[in-house]
Amino acid sequence: MIVLKFGGTSVRNAEWINRVLDIVQPELHRSPLLISSAMAGVTDDLLAIAASAEKGRGEDALQLLENLRTRHLTACSELLACEESSTHHELEQLVSEVRYLIQGISLVRECTPRTQDAVVSFGERMATQLIAAAAETRGIETRLIDSRRFIRTDEQFTNAACLTGPTHELIRSGVHPEPGTLIVAQGFIGATDDGVTSTLGRGGSDFSATIFGAALGAEEVQIWTDVDGILTADPRIVSGARQVASLSYSEAAELAFFGAKVVHPFTIQPAVELGIPVTVRNTGNPGLAGTRIQAESEVHGVRALAAKKGITVITVHSSRMLNAYGFLSRIFSVFERFRISVDLIATSEVSVSMTVDNEVNLGPAITELQRVGMVQVEGRQAILCLVGKNLWRDPVFVKRVFSALAEVPLRMISLGSSDVNLSLVLADNNVDTAMRTLHGEFFG
Ligand code: ASP
Ligand code: MG
Repeated sequence: MIVLKFGGTSVRNAEWINRVLDIVQPELHRSPLLISSAMAGVTDDLLAIAASAEKGRGEDALQLLENLRTRHLTACSELLACEESSTHHELEQLVSEVRYLIQGISLVRECTPRTQDAVVSFGERMATQLIAAAAETRGIETRLIDSRRFIRTDEQFTNAACLTGPTHELIRSGVHPEPGTLIVAQGFIGATDDGVTSTLGRGGSDFSATIFGAALGAEEVQIWTDVDGILTADPRIVSGARQVASLSYSEAAELAFFGAKVVHPFTIQPAVELGIPVTVRNTGNPGLAGTRIQAESEVHGVRALAAKKGITVITVHSSRMLNAYGFLSRIFSVFERFRISVDLIATSEVSVSMTVDNEVNLGPAITELQRVGMVQVEGRQAILCLVGKNLWRDPVFVKRVFSALAEVPLRMISLGSSDVNLSLVLADNNVDTAMRTLHGEFFG
């Protein structure tokens, strides 16, 4: 069987839902399971609706909901050509459930994470109603299932963790893909043991797809989105960026971390473990093969570049560190206590430099770190990462990187700790130029 997951932009309206079905229809013999996100922007709208209601602006919330209702009903009549369809009624039903929730939130002026999940779940539920109905209209044997019956999660609402054991069991005993039948399910949503609706966090539909894929032993999980696959660099920065045909899981994970937002490493995990290939495809350009992510890539050398701006470098300096032990652990226990995630590290005998994201509130942690040594904080930095297996073993590669960047001051270098990347830290305002230079060097 195969899993095909479509993101919000792929199901943004009737025309696009038709494209999705054009893609799925020829795959019917492969026992497909289609996972869909909410229509583009709908999750954001539902969050805005919940927020308005919480602030007591019930009227605004209802107006926004009315827009969502119109949008789904319009798509429905375009797809089904019949106003009185049962799908029309199903959609009206779902909308009135959201209306009740909004009234409740407005009354108590409170929207708990749990209530918020209940509200946003309607995006995926409405989208899949439409898709399943449209598939049926085409004469495709279709089964719409409710992911909340299969994806078991903990109670961390808005960002729930999937409980793999029970989830796999539920999926294996309740979902039976077969050739010629299309199964349609919602991404993003699940339920707790008590049957309370939960969500897997923003962008969680990819995760849903690989969870189902892993449980059902899929041949392949296809992630259909609005880009041609993973590119050699951010095309907004590098005009000559092109598609990467295949990547290993660890290379893809590395890229995702560095801001190539095509797939999130966490969402690939369930597939990684079972060696199921994940293909990133463009719904707007289905003729392209996209990027295939698999256990091991057969290609060597630099696969792609990625950058992450908005980085702060923290350096802790202490001559007491010389030949002493326990310094690093004291430093990291501070970060642990304040729940700050450290990305790159470089150490010398008397100092340690670390990168963290700008957004975190560093104040209290810095005060603590000052007990360990002198602390220096440098904002407006960026990480530029070259991804490719075993790059660092190749002296020619290293020489090429540093000669190309001879003019750019580098603040930190991390090479060799992972076998798939070389990371450079440099000033935020130099990173675009550096990326173009390196792209020219390796892909020009
Ligand atoms: N609709 C959800 C979101 O926008 C989940 C997803 O699209 O993956 O975050
Ligand atoms: Mg989305």
